[in-house]
Amino acid sequence: MRQIAIYGKGGIGKSTTTQNLVAALGEAKKKVMLVGCDPKADSTRMLLGGMMQQTVLDTLRMEGEDEVTLDVVVQDGFQGIKCVESGGPEPGIGCAGRGIITAITLLENLGAYEKNQIDYVFYDVLGDVVCGGFAMPMREGKAKEIYIVASGELMALYAANNICKGIVKFANSGGARLGGIICNSRNVDGELNLVTAFAQRLGSQLIQFIPRDNIVQRAEINKKTVISYQSDSSQADVYRSLANKLDNNDMFVVPKPMPMEVLEKMMMEFGIIEAA
Ligand code: ADP
Ligand code: MG
Repeated sequence: MRQIAIYGKGGIGKSTTTQNLVAALGEAKKKVMLVGCDPKADSTRMLLGGMMQQTVLDTLRMEGEDEVTLDVVVQDGFQGIKCVESGGPEPGIGCAGRGIITAITLLENLGAYEKNQIDYVFYDVLGDVVCGGFAMPMREGKAKEIYIVASGELMALYAANNICKGIVKFANSGGARLGGIICNSRNVDGELNLVTAFAQRLGSQLIQFIPRDNIVQRAEINKKTVISYQSDSSQADVYRSLANKLDNNDMFVVPKPMPMEVLEKMMMEFGIIEAA
């Protein structure tokens, strides 16, 4: 079983990309569980046809530990993908990171992974590793494989670089490794070259370039992944390509984060000059 965490700045496209990625893995007959680790609990919605799922933490709070069974917190989505949302603490009270820890531990104790003979567990984790709780999937050695969703925008690369600092921190204790950068395009000038160079500078790879395409919004409005909404579209094939590369990936590194000046220089070199 491979346990994979998807990180990246908020709004960069983690949940969209992850749901399409697991949909493609599901099509390829892999047994997948997706655990949303964002208090918004919107990581599995499109796999479930728009249904908002009852979260692990809500169930715990409302019904108590004895009532949390796999039937309640695990729902079957598109292609039989097992969907879970960790949920979050009451707003303003408690740490969301701790909630993730509680939720994952509970899933383990209930035997969620063994019972379903899972090939892949994905954790869709809210962007910020500055809070220790969000680093938990990698810190505790749950997810050894990390992919970061980024774009050519400075703040997306800045966040990706910070996440890499988190990976370095937990590389020894938890065994976390970076499997690659996923570029979810924002149509920034020179984006492909910039993000490719960024990934290489980290000692990693750009594993997939995902074009920005309004079909993503159309699918979203219809409460579907692109894969299920328009299976024969080129965008669906891009997600299949990502799934295939991830399935065959053998490049796992402890990344080398860079100083801000280097990042800015890269932006100048690949972004701005190319556009001129
Ligand atoms: P995150 O989970 O990182 O916060 P989301 O996956 O929720 O981000 O994506 C934020 C928004 O960006 C969504 O409304 C989604 O429709 C849009 N989006 C994501 N990827 C693409 C893409 N490749 N093309 C067009 N829109 C996209
Ligand atoms: Mg999300």
